[in-house]
Amino acid sequence: MTNETLIKQLIKDGYLKTQLIIDAFKAVDRAQFVPEDQKQFTYANYPLPIGFGQTISQPLTVAFMLELLQPQPGEKILDVGSGSGWQTALLAYCVGAEGKVFGIERIPELKQFAEKNITSMEAVPQGVIQLFEGDGSKGFEEEAPFDKIIAAAAAQSIPKAWKEQLKVGGKIVAPIDESIHVLERKSQDEFEEKRHFGFSFVPLIGE
Ligand code: SAM
Repeated sequence: MTNETLIKQLIKDGYLKTQLIIDAFKAVDRAQFVPEDQKQFTYANYPLPIGFGQTISQPLTVAFMLELLQPQPGEKILDVGSGSGWQTALLAYCVGAEGKVFGIERIPELKQFAEKNITSMEAVPQGVIQLFEGDGSKGFEEEAPFDKIIAAAAAQSIPKAWKEQLKVGGKIVAPIDESIHVLERKSQDEFEEKRHFGFSFVPLIGE
């Protein structure tokens, strides 16, 4: 299996559709985010351990969630649970040099792991990604409001802070239990929610 065959399979199975996201998958190779002892499984379509009981996400889940999020050039996006940094780098490719991606991760060693993985990525414009250690269930007040928020760990409901830190017209894509929720902010007080079932996630560890 290669990155090319993984991408072809994700397109064939209907997970990858949008050209910008397909280009991001081509440019941001999962190989750079997988720990040494898992390298042989790099392009397997399942999550892989990255230490501390955590995983680099399953490619089809990342593809499905990014297709729902539809990151666009110039946007400011919060990535909660940045883990290995793979999805953070895919987002950075999509938002480009005019955009910003803030990755927040609660495990300091994983924040450092992501930093190391991202530093050498030529596909990601310098300065687009900023990584922080902390509890992303509170969002990231300092840099709010965001055009979009995406999470890689499952909460029991969408945290209030994420809704408050989202721009009107913005979108949250996040796992809740075993499903993926899409929340669009239609006005100051109005949100529209859709659900997609049949996924599995590590838990969001809040207070
Ligand atoms: N997209 C990442 C990747 O592919 O490497 C996903 C990593 S893993 C599935 C989810 C991550 O969420 C873990 O690294 C975990 O430590 C982190 N996490 C869980 N709860 C969190 C919280 N409250 N704040 C920040 N990160 C959290």
